[in-house]
Amino acid sequence: LAPQFIRAIAPYKAGKPVSDVVRELGLNPETVVKLASNENPLGLGSKAKAAIAQAAADLGRYPDANGFSLKAKLSTRHSVGADQITLGNGSNDVLELAAKAFLTQGTNAVFSQYAFAVYPLATQGCGAQSKVVPAANLTHDLTGFLAAIDDNTRVVFIANPNNPTGTFLAADQIRAFLKQVPSRVLVVLDEAYNEFLKPEDQYDSTQWVAEFPNLLVSRSFSKAYGLAGLRVGYAVSSPEVADLLNRVRQPFNVNSIALAAAEAALDDAEFLQLTYETNQQGLNLLQSAFERMGLPYVPSYGNFVLVKVGNSDDAGLKVFDALQRLGVIVRPVNNYGLPQWLRISIGLPAENQRFLDALPEALKVLG
Ligand code: PMP
Repeated sequence: LAPQFIRAIAPYKAGKPVSDVVRELGLNPETVVKLASNENPLGLGSKAKAAIAQAAADLGRYPDANGFSLKAKLSTRHSVGADQITLGNGSNDVLELAAKAFLTQGTNAVFSQYAFAVYPLATQGCGAQSKVVPAANLTHDLTGFLAAIDDNTRVVFIANPNNPTGTFLAADQIRAFLKQVPSRVLVVLDEAYNEFLKPEDQYDSTQWVAEFPNLLVSRSFSKAYGLAGLRVGYAVSSPEVADLLNRVRQPFNVNSIALAAAEAALDDAEFLQLTYETNQQGLNLLQSAFERMGLPYVPSYGNFVLVKVGNSDDAGLKVFDALQRLGVIVRPVNNYGLPQWLRISIGLPAENQRFLDALPEALKVLG
Protein backbone atom coordinates (compact mmCIF):
# COMPACT_ATOMS: atom_id res chain seq x y z
CA LEU A 1 0.00 0.00 0.00
CA ALA A 2 1.26 3.48 -0.83
CA PRO A 3 2.20 5.66 2.16
CA GLN A 4 -0.49 7.91 3.63
CA PHE A 5 1.28 11.07 2.42
CA ILE A 6 0.95 9.86 -1.18
CA ARG A 7 -2.69 8.83 -0.80
CA ALA A 8 -3.43 12.26 0.69
CA ILE A 9 -2.36 14.10 -2.49
CA ALA A 10 -5.17 15.82 -4.42
CA PRO A 11 -4.18 15.28 -8.09
CA TYR A 12 -3.39 18.28 -10.30
CA LYS A 13 -6.42 19.26 -12.34
CA ALA A 14 -5.46 20.36 -15.82
CA GLY A 15 -8.06 21.90 -18.13
CA LYS A 16 -9.92 19.42 -20.35
CA PRO A 17 -8.71 19.08 -23.94
CA VAL A 18 -10.82 21.25 -26.26
CA SER A 19 -11.89 18.19 -28.23
CA ASP A 20 -13.50 16.67 -25.11
CA VAL A 21 -15.43 19.86 -24.34
CA VAL A 22 -16.56 20.18 -27.95
CA ARG A 23 -17.84 16.60 -27.96
CA GLU A 24 -19.51 16.74 -24.56
CA LEU A 25 -21.36 19.99 -25.24
CA GLY A 26 -21.94 19.52 -28.97
CA LEU A 27 -20.12 22.78 -29.79
CA ASN A 28 -18.90 23.96 -33.17
CA PRO A 29 -15.12 23.33 -33.05
CA GLU A 30 -14.55 26.19 -35.52
CA THR A 31 -15.79 28.82 -33.11
CA VAL A 32 -14.58 27.47 -29.75
CA VAL A 33 -11.84 29.49 -28.07
CA LYS A 34 -9.63 28.23 -25.26
CA LEU A 35 -8.30 30.85 -22.87
CA ALA A 36 -7.57 28.42 -20.08
CA SER A 37 -3.96 27.27 -19.82
CA ASN A 38 -1.77 30.37 -20.17
CA GLU A 39 -0.47 29.17 -23.50
CA ASN A 40 0.95 31.37 -26.25
CA PRO A 41 -1.97 32.14 -28.59
CA LEU A 42 0.46 32.71 -31.46
CA GLY A 43 1.52 29.07 -31.31
CA LEU A 44 5.10 28.40 -32.37
CA GLY A 45 7.64 30.81 -33.81
CA SER A 46 8.98 30.05 -37.28
CA LYS A 47 12.50 29.29 -36.02
CA ALA A 48 11.20 26.73 -33.51
CA LYS A 49 9.02 25.17 -36.19
CA ALA A 50 11.98 24.70 -38.52
CA ALA A 51 14.10 23.21 -35.74
CA ILE A 52 11.32 20.80 -34.82
CA ALA A 53 11.05 19.53 -38.39
CA GLN A 54 14.79 18.97 -38.50
CA ALA A 55 14.98 17.21 -35.14
CA ALA A 56 11.97 15.05 -36.01
CA ALA A 57 13.96 13.54 -38.86
CA ASP A 58 16.34 11.86 -36.45
CA LEU A 59 14.48 10.30 -33.56
CA GLY A 60 16.05 6.87 -33.59
CA ARG A 61 18.72 7.98 -31.16
CA TYR A 62 18.51 9.15 -27.56
CA PRO A 63 18.60 12.89 -26.95
CA ASP A 64 21.79 14.47 -25.64
CA ALA A 65 21.51 13.42 -21.98
CA ASN A 66 23.20 16.62 -20.83
CA GLY A 67 21.59 19.04 -23.27
CA PHE A 68 25.05 20.41 -24.05
CA SER A 69 24.03 22.73 -26.86
CA LEU A 70 20.97 24.26 -25.17
CA LYS A 71 22.87 24.69 -21.92
CA ALA A 72 25.69 26.44 -23.78
CA LYS A 73 23.23 28.90 -25.27
CA LEU A 74 21.51 29.50 -21.94
CA SER A 75 24.82 29.97 -20.21
CA THR A 76 25.77 32.71 -22.69
CA ARG A 77 22.31 34.25 -22.39
CA HIS A 78 22.51 34.50 -18.60
CA SER A 79 26.29 34.96 -18.26
CA VAL A 80 26.56 31.95 -15.94
CA GLY A 81 28.49 28.69 -16.22
CA ALA A 82 26.90 25.79 -18.08
CA ASP A 83 27.37 23.87 -14.82
CA GLN A 84 24.81 26.23 -13.26
CA ILE A 85 22.01 25.14 -15.57
CA THR A 86 19.65 22.21 -15.11
CA LEU A 87 17.19 21.35 -17.87
CA GLY A 88 13.75 20.02 -17.09
CA ASN A 89 10.79 18.37 -18.78
CA GLY A 90 8.89 21.62 -18.43
CA SER A 91 9.73 23.86 -15.49
CA ASN A 92 7.42 21.61 -13.46
CA ASP A 93 10.19 19.04 -13.68
CA VAL A 94 12.67 21.57 -12.31
CA LEU A 95 10.35 22.32 -9.38
CA GLU A 96 10.04 18.61 -8.67
CA LEU A 97 13.79 18.06 -8.88
CA ALA A 98 14.29 20.81 -6.32
CA ALA A 99 11.73 19.18 -4.03
CA LYS A 100 13.21 15.72 -4.54
CA ALA A 101 16.75 16.88 -3.79
CA PHE A 102 15.92 18.93 -0.69
CA LEU A 103 12.71 17.63 0.90
CA THR A 104 12.04 14.51 2.87
CA GLN A 105 9.73 13.44 5.70
CA GLY A 106 10.16 15.69 8.72
CA THR A 107 11.05 18.75 6.63
CA ASN A 108 8.80 21.43 5.18
CA ALA A 109 8.44 23.81 2.26
CA VAL A 110 7.07 27.34 2.63
CA PHE A 111 4.91 28.96 -0.04
CA SER A 112 1.98 31.33 -0.36
CA GLN A 113 -1.75 30.79 -0.30
CA TYR A 114 -3.01 31.05 -3.92
CA ALA A 115 0.42 30.06 -5.25
CA PHE A 116 1.01 27.69 -8.15
CA ALA A 117 -0.61 24.28 -7.58
CA VAL A 118 2.51 22.23 -8.20
CA TYR A 119 4.25 23.44 -5.00
CA PRO A 120 2.03 21.45 -2.63
CA LEU A 121 2.11 18.47 -5.00
CA ALA A 122 5.89 18.38 -5.22
CA THR A 123 6.18 18.88 -1.46
CA GLN A 124 3.68 16.19 -0.48
CA GLY A 125 5.20 13.79 -3.01
CA CYS A 126 8.35 13.83 -0.89
CA GLY A 127 6.45 13.27 2.34
CA ALA A 128 7.32 16.80 3.48
CA GLN A 129 4.92 19.33 5.02
CA SER A 130 3.49 22.33 3.18
CA LYS A 131 3.59 25.54 5.22
CA VAL A 132 1.14 27.84 3.50
CA VAL A 133 1.55 31.55 4.25
CA PRO A 134 -1.70 33.56 4.05
CA ALA A 135 -1.62 35.95 1.11
CA ALA A 136 -1.84 39.68 1.73
CA ASN A 137 -4.26 41.21 -0.77
CA LEU A 138 -3.82 38.13 -2.99
CA THR A 139 -0.05 38.81 -3.09
CA HIS A 140 2.83 36.81 -1.59
CA ASP A 141 3.54 38.15 1.92
CA LEU A 142 7.31 37.80 2.22
CA THR A 143 7.32 39.00 5.83
CA GLY A 144 4.92 36.16 6.55
CA PHE A 145 7.31 33.80 4.73
CA LEU A 146 10.16 34.83 7.04
CA ALA A 147 7.97 34.18 10.07
CA ALA A 148 6.97 30.75 8.71
CA ILE A 149 10.51 29.52 8.07
CA ASP A 150 11.59 27.21 10.89
CA ASP A 151 14.41 24.74 11.60
CA ASN A 152 12.79 22.13 9.38
CA THR A 153 12.29 24.38 6.36
CA ARG A 154 14.39 23.29 3.40
CA VAL A 155 12.65 24.96 0.44
CA VAL A 156 10.74 28.18 -0.20
CA PHE A 157 8.73 28.52 -3.41
CA ILE A 158 8.03 32.00 -4.78
CA ALA A 159 6.22 32.47 -8.09
CA ASN A 160 6.97 35.82 -9.69
CA PRO A 161 4.65 36.69 -11.38
CA ASN A 162 2.37 34.28 -9.59
CA ASN A 163 -0.20 32.00 -11.20
CA PRO A 164 -3.21 32.22 -10.80
CA THR A 165 -3.24 35.72 -9.28
CA GLY A 166 -0.92 37.47 -11.77
CA THR A 167 0.64 39.42 -8.89
CA PHE A 168 4.26 40.54 -8.88
CA LEU A 169 7.01 41.30 -6.38
CA ALA A 170 9.58 43.93 -7.32
CA ALA A 171 13.24 42.93 -7.50
CA ASP A 172 14.21 44.88 -4.37
CA GLN A 173 11.55 43.07 -2.31
CA ILE A 174 12.92 39.69 -3.37
CA ARG A 175 16.51 40.74 -2.74
CA ALA A 176 15.62 42.02 0.73
CA PHE A 177 13.97 38.66 1.40
CA LEU A 178 16.98 36.68 0.15
CA LYS A 179 19.22 38.60 2.54
CA GLN A 180 17.14 37.43 5.49
CA VAL A 181 16.55 33.78 4.57
CA PRO A 182 18.89 31.28 6.28
CA SER A 183 21.40 30.07 3.70
CA ARG A 184 20.47 26.40 4.33
CA VAL A 185 17.04 27.06 2.81
CA LEU A 186 16.75 26.73 -0.97
CA VAL A 187 14.74 29.61 -2.43
CA VAL A 188 13.05 28.54 -5.66
CA LEU A 189 12.13 31.63 -7.62
CA ASP A 190 9.69 30.44 -10.26
CA GLU A 191 9.72 32.86 -13.18
CA ALA A 192 7.60 30.99 -15.72
CA TYR A 193 6.01 34.30 -16.80
CA ASN A 194 9.11 36.51 -16.67
CA GLU A 195 9.09 37.39 -20.37
CA PHE A 196 5.69 39.09 -20.04
CA LEU A 197 7.00 41.73 -17.62
CA LYS A 198 7.16 45.29 -18.89
CA PRO A 199 10.69 46.59 -19.43
CA GLU A 200 10.41 48.80 -16.33
CA ASP A 201 9.59 45.78 -14.14
CA GLN A 202 12.22 43.45 -15.62
CA TYR A 203 15.09 42.25 -13.45
CA ASP A 204 17.66 39.51 -13.90
CA SER A 205 17.66 37.30 -10.85
CA THR A 206 20.04 34.81 -12.49
CA GLN A 207 22.73 37.39 -11.68
CA TRP A 208 21.94 37.12 -7.97
CA VAL A 209 22.93 33.46 -7.74
CA ALA A 210 26.60 34.37 -7.23
CA GLU A 211 25.61 36.38 -4.16
CA PHE A 212 22.95 33.92 -2.92
CA PRO A 213 24.11 30.32 -3.55
CA ASN A 214 20.81 29.08 -2.08
CA LEU A 215 18.81 30.75 -4.89
CA LEU A 216 17.40 28.71 -7.76
CA VAL A 217 15.74 30.58 -10.62
CA SER A 218 13.30 28.55 -12.68
CA ARG A 219 12.24 29.51 -16.22
CA SER A 220 9.89 27.96 -18.76
CA PHE A 221 9.70 27.60 -22.53
CA SER A 222 5.96 26.88 -22.27
CA LYS A 223 4.65 30.41 -22.02
CA ALA A 224 6.24 33.25 -24.01
CA TYR A 225 8.33 30.85 -26.11
CA GLY A 226 5.24 28.90 -27.11
CA LEU A 227 6.58 25.38 -26.51
CA ALA A 228 4.06 24.14 -23.92
CA GLY A 229 3.43 20.87 -25.76
CA LEU A 230 7.12 20.00 -25.91
CA ARG A 231 7.79 20.32 -22.16
CA VAL A 232 11.01 22.18 -21.54
CA GLY A 233 12.19 24.49 -18.79
CA TYR A 234 15.38 25.14 -16.85
CA ALA A 235 16.92 26.21 -13.59
CA VAL A 236 19.81 28.59 -12.99
CA SER A 237 21.49 27.92 -9.65
CA SER A 238 24.88 27.56 -8.02
CA PRO A 239 26.92 24.67 -9.47
CA GLU A 240 26.49 22.87 -6.12
CA VAL A 241 22.69 22.99 -6.30
CA ALA A 242 22.77 22.05 -10.00
CA ASP A 243 24.89 19.04 -9.13
CA LEU A 244 22.30 17.87 -6.60
CA LEU A 245 19.41 18.30 -9.04
CA ASN A 246 21.37 16.41 -11.63
CA ARG A 247 21.65 13.42 -9.27
CA VAL A 248 17.89 13.02 -9.00
CA ARG A 249 17.13 13.86 -12.64
CA GLN A 250 16.09 11.23 -15.17
CA PRO A 251 18.99 10.73 -17.61
CA PHE A 252 17.05 11.80 -20.73
CA ASN A 253 14.45 14.08 -19.18
CA VAL A 254 14.28 16.49 -22.14
CA ASN A 255 13.57 14.98 -25.54
CA SER A 256 15.45 15.74 -28.77
CA ILE A 257 12.72 17.83 -30.35
CA ALA A 258 12.29 19.94 -27.22
CA LEU A 259 16.04 20.56 -26.97
CA ALA A 260 16.24 21.70 -30.59
CA ALA A 261 13.10 23.82 -30.45
CA ALA A 262 14.12 25.57 -27.24
CA GLU A 263 17.49 26.46 -28.69
CA ALA A 264 15.88 27.90 -31.82
CA ALA A 265 13.24 29.74 -29.79
CA LEU A 266 15.95 31.53 -27.81
CA ASP A 267 17.17 33.05 -31.07
CA ASP A 268 13.75 34.25 -32.17
CA ALA A 269 13.68 37.72 -30.64
CA GLU A 270 11.10 38.86 -33.15
CA PHE A 271 8.60 36.18 -32.09
CA LEU A 272 9.19 36.98 -28.43
CA GLN A 273 8.53 40.67 -29.06
CA LEU A 274 5.33 39.93 -30.99
CA THR A 275 4.24 37.66 -28.14
CA TYR A 276 4.89 40.42 -25.61
CA GLU A 277 2.96 43.03 -27.61
CA THR A 278 0.03 40.70 -28.33
CA ASN A 279 -0.18 39.97 -24.62
CA GLN A 280 0.01 43.60 -23.48
CA GLN A 281 -2.73 44.62 -25.92
CA GLY A 282 -4.98 41.74 -24.88
CA LEU A 283 -4.38 42.37 -21.20
CA ASN A 284 -5.23 46.08 -21.60
CA LEU A 285 -8.37 45.20 -23.55
CA LEU A 286 -9.64 42.76 -20.92
CA GLN A 287 -8.71 44.87 -17.91
CA SER A 288 -10.36 48.00 -19.28
CA ALA A 289 -13.47 45.98 -20.17
CA PHE A 290 -13.62 44.65 -16.59
CA GLU A 291 -13.34 48.22 -15.32
CA ARG A 292 -16.23 49.35 -17.51
CA MET A 293 -18.32 46.40 -16.38
CA GLY A 294 -17.50 47.04 -12.72
CA LEU A 295 -15.94 43.59 -12.27
CA PRO A 296 -13.08 43.49 -9.75
CA TYR A 297 -9.86 42.09 -11.24
CA VAL A 298 -6.25 41.69 -10.14
CA PRO A 299 -3.96 43.84 -12.33
CA SER A 300 -1.85 41.18 -14.00
CA TYR A 301 1.86 40.87 -14.80
CA GLY A 302 1.40 37.59 -16.66
CA ASN A 303 -0.43 36.33 -19.74
CA PHE A 304 -3.71 35.81 -17.90
CA VAL A 305 -5.95 37.80 -15.59
CA LEU A 306 -8.00 36.92 -12.55
CA VAL A 307 -11.49 38.42 -12.50
CA LYS A 308 -14.17 38.24 -9.81
CA VAL A 309 -17.41 37.25 -11.50
CA GLY A 310 -19.74 37.11 -8.47
CA ASN A 311 -20.07 37.09 -4.72
CA SER A 312 -21.35 33.58 -4.11
CA ASP A 313 -19.07 30.58 -3.74
CA ASP A 314 -20.53 28.90 -6.80
CA ALA A 315 -20.17 32.01 -9.01
CA GLY A 316 -16.89 30.98 -10.64
CA LEU A 317 -18.06 27.51 -11.63
CA LYS A 318 -21.46 28.73 -12.80
CA VAL A 319 -20.01 31.43 -15.06
CA PHE A 320 -17.29 29.04 -16.25
CA ASP A 321 -19.98 26.58 -17.24
CA ALA A 322 -22.10 29.23 -18.98
CA LEU A 323 -19.09 30.54 -20.90
CA GLN A 324 -18.20 27.02 -21.94
CA ARG A 325 -21.70 26.47 -23.35
CA LEU A 326 -21.11 29.64 -25.38
CA GLY A 327 -17.88 28.11 -26.70
CA VAL A 328 -15.40 30.02 -24.52
CA ILE A 329 -13.21 27.89 -22.27
CA VAL A 330 -11.60 29.65 -19.30
CA ARG A 331 -10.19 28.37 -16.00
CA PRO A 332 -12.13 28.11 -12.74
CA VAL A 333 -9.89 28.59 -9.73
CA ASN A 334 -12.03 27.16 -6.94
CA ASN A 335 -9.33 24.52 -6.41
CA TYR A 336 -7.04 27.43 -5.44
CA GLY A 337 -9.59 28.65 -2.90
CA LEU A 338 -10.86 31.39 -5.22
CA PRO A 339 -14.40 30.19 -6.01
CA GLN A 340 -15.74 33.65 -6.92
CA TRP A 341 -13.06 34.24 -9.54
CA LEU A 342 -12.10 33.02 -13.01
CA ARG A 343 -8.69 33.06 -14.63
CA ILE A 344 -8.70 34.17 -18.25
CA SER A 345 -5.63 33.55 -20.40
CA ILE A 346 -4.89 36.28 -22.92
CA GLY A 347 -5.58 35.16 -26.48
CA LEU A 348 -5.44 36.63 -29.96
CA PRO A 349 -7.47 39.85 -30.42
CA ALA A 350 -10.44 37.98 -31.95
CA GLU A 351 -10.37 35.38 -29.14
CA ASN A 352 -10.33 38.07 -26.45
CA GLN A 353 -13.26 39.75 -28.16
CA ARG A 354 -15.18 36.44 -28.31
CA PHE A 355 -14.74 36.15 -24.55
CA LEU A 356 -15.85 39.75 -23.93
CA ASP A 357 -18.88 39.27 -26.17
CA ALA A 358 -19.90 36.09 -24.32
CA LEU A 359 -19.26 37.38 -20.79
CA PRO A 360 -22.40 39.56 -20.24
CA GLU A 361 -24.58 36.67 -21.42
CA ALA A 362 -22.74 34.17 -19.20
CA LEU A 363 -23.02 36.45 -16.15
CA LYS A 364 -26.81 36.21 -16.42
CA VAL A 365 -26.65 32.70 -14.87
CA LEU A 366 -26.04 34.44 -11.55
CA GLY A 367 -29.47 36.03 -11.76
N1 PMP B 1 5.27 27.83 -12.71
C1 PMP B 1 4.12 28.50 -12.84
C2 PMP B 1 3.88 29.66 -11.93
C3 PMP B 1 3.18 28.10 -13.78
O1 PMP B 1 2.01 28.75 -13.89
C4 PMP B 1 3.46 27.00 -14.63
C5 PMP B 1 2.50 26.53 -15.68
N2 PMP B 1 1.19 26.52 -15.39
C6 PMP B 1 4.67 26.35 -14.44
C7 PMP B 1 5.56 26.78 -13.48
C8 PMP B 1 5.03 25.11 -15.18
O2 PMP B 1 5.12 25.28 -16.53
P1 PMP B 1 5.89 24.26 -17.44
O3 PMP B 1 6.07 22.98 -16.71
O4 PMP B 1 5.02 24.11 -18.64
O5 PMP B 1 7.21 24.93 -17.74
